[in-house]
Amino acid sequence: MFQKARIKLTLWYLSIIILISVSFSIVIYKGFTHELTRIERIQRYRQESIEEFRHIRPLPYRIDPEVLEETRYRIRLILTLVNIGILLIAGGAGYFLAGKTLKPISEMLEEQNRFISDASHELRTPLTSLKSAFEVHVRNKDRNLEEADTLVTESILEVNKLQMLSESLLQLTKYQKQNGQTRFEKLLISHILVDAVSKIQSLAKKKKITIHYLPTNIQIYGDTYGLTDLFVILLDNAVKYSRMKGTIDIDIKKSDGQVIISIKDFGIGIGEKDLPHIFDRFYRADTARSKSKHKGFGLGLSIAQKIATLHNGFLRAQSFEGKGSTFSVYLPVKKIA
Ligand code: ADP
Repeated sequence: MFQKARIKLTLWYLSIIILISVSFSIVIYKGFTHELTRIERIQRYRQESIEEFRHIRPLPYRIDPEVLEETRYRIRLILTLVNIGILLIAGGAGYFLAGKTLKPISEMLEEQNRFISDASHELRTPLTSLKSAFEVHVRNKDRNLEEADTLVTESILEVNKLQMLSESLLQLTKYQKQNGQTRFEKLLISHILVDAVSKIQSLAKKKKITIHYLPTNIQIYGDTYGLTDLFVILLDNAVKYSRMKGTIDIDIKKSDGQVIISIKDFGIGIGEKDLPHIFDRFYRADTARSKSKHKGFGLGLSIAQKIATLHNGFLRAQSFEGKGSTFSVYLPVKKIA
């Protein structure tokens, strides 16, 4: 499909260039031939005037019509060769440019297809298990109310998970740069952090986790909702993967025109082999404690990464298995153009 579109676009480029080039050639040819006729006319006029003045018999005029015709022919030939040259160069350049123009579109389409297949894969598993549980229940002739109640309760839990997944998927598409109609404004980073901390406070309380944080007056340009979502994701992970009665340190500093906000926990940490992949969509570290104990879809960090990119910033993770992790958000201080 990409190749077909590339050839089509090349043909479009080519026809536009050839149209312009042929039109110019016609204008140039007309201009030249007009100029030749004019020169020939002037020459004839001058010769006739001289001859009349000297009272001598007029001679045939100086520019030979054959020479004129040959000149016209040569101009036509040169212009045709120039056009063939343009056609060849434009063909090559057009093909190259069409490839360059279509590359981001094809990458976007590929990414979209991958996203759809990943999302449907994640949705299929809980839906299949729900369906088979219902089928087994319906087929059971001796089913009773108690069993039905248990099934409904379990199904609600599964539906809740599906709801969470669809919300995360929506969040992920919302922060794709292409759709970004985000409004950036000057905001206090402390306000965002206070808001984010309050959103995960109940979870932290359940695990008796203390969050250390010193407010600052550092300001940045950004989208309040997006940045709050970003810090909620990082803080939620820090709480989720911390042990009971743990601590989380939030540190903010300014360096080289950037604000660096670090969230450090002393929890289970991330293994060396998992660390390079944690920002991938649907990736979950494969440690027994992490996957089985904590619910999640492996979407949080890819959403966080997208939000940081939207702000012309980025995310970095440092972690040691069994010791804890530090997630740092780098955001530019200056207004984003
Ligand atoms: P999830 O919903 O599974 O937490 P994320 O995208 O937020 O998805 O994180 C991806 C994986 O990275 C998690 O499954 C977890 O294994 C690992 N991870 C993220 N944050 C932390 C953390 N603070 N401590 C330990 N592991 C973490």
